[in-house]
Amino acid sequence: MKLTILGSNAAAPAYGRRPTAQVLNISEQLFLIDCAEGTQMRMQEYGIKRGRINHIFISHMHGDHYFGLIGLLNTMGLLGRQAAINIYGPAQLKEIIGIQISHSLGFELVFNDISEGEEKVILDTNNVQVKCFPVHHSVPTHGFLFKKKERPRVLLPEKLKEFEIPKYFYKQLTDGADYEPENGTWVKNELVTEGGKKQRTYAYTADTAPHECYKEIIKGVDLLYHEATYTKHFSDKAIERLHSTTVEAARIALDAKVGQLIIGHFSSRYKELHEFELEAQAIFPNTELALEGKTFEIKEG
Ligand SMILES: [Zn+2]
Repeated sequence: MKLTILGSNAAAPAYGRRPTAQVLNISEQLFLIDCAEGTQMRMQEYGIKRGRINHIFISHMHGDHYFGLIGLLNTMGLLGRQAAINIYGPAQLKEIIGIQISHSLGFELVFNDISEGEEKVILDTNNVQVKCFPVHHSVPTHGFLFKKKERPRVLLPEKLKEFEIPKYFYKQLTDGADYEPENGTWVKNELVTEGGKKQRTYAYTADTAPHECYKEIIKGVDLLYHEATYTKHFSDKAIERLHSTTVEAARIALDAKVGQLIIGHFSSRYKELHEFELEAQAIFPNTELALEGKTFEIKEG
C-alpha cells in the first residue's frame, strides 16, 4: 500500500506546487483522492497510469480539489476507456460533470453521492474498504479512511482474559487494532492475537479546522494526511478560514496515536516549507511534508 502526492498546495498553484491530489496504490489498484487542476499532468510526469484508476474520491466542492476532474475524464474517454468509473463526491459534482462532458464520454460514470455529512462505508470489495467521514470546513467536506483487508488475526482466549479485553472489542482485535481502555494501559494487538496480518490504514482528512467529529475514526491509523495550511504564526487566518496549523495537525496525530503524519495543503503565502516541518516535528516527530512526487509506503504488518 503506497501513497503518491500529486499536488499539495492550497487554493491556487504557487512556487511550482499544485493544488490537492493524491493517488493511493493498494495491491496495484489505484484510488485517486481529490483531483485539482494539473492532476493528469502530474500523473504523466510520475508515470501513473490513468487506465488503472477505477475509483475517484472528491472531498468537497472547492476548485482546488476537483477542477482537474473534467480534463482527466475527457482524456480517459479519448484514450478509448470502456470500463465504468466510480466517483464519490457531493451531489453538485454530478451536475457539473453532467453539464460539461457526460454526453461525450464513451464509458459509464457511476456517481456515489456523499453529501449527507455522515460516516459510512462507501466501497467494500474483497481486499479494500473505504469509509467517508465528515470534517469541519467552510462547505460540507468529507475525509476518507482506506483499509486494506487482510486475513483476520486469531484471538488468544487466555490472553484476552489476562488483559481483561471486553467482548465488544474482539472483532476489532481480529482486524489488527490495539486495545485502548478509557483508563489504563494500551494493549498491543500482538499480545492477545496471532497469525493473520494487521490491516493497513490510511486516513485523509481533506480541508478542515481541528474538530472532535473525526477524532475517533482516525485513531491508530498507520498513515494520516492532515492539512496544515498555515504555520503557527498565522493561526488567526486558520481559524477565520476553517483550516489547521502545523501545531494543530501534529497534536491531532499525537492524540490519535497514528503511525506517521503527512502535512500538506500549504498556503500560497509560503515559498519555503521548512518551518512547517520543524513546527510539526517538534510535537509529532514522525511527520513529513506532502511534497509532490513523494511516495509514502505503508508497510505490511
Ligand atoms: Zn483546499
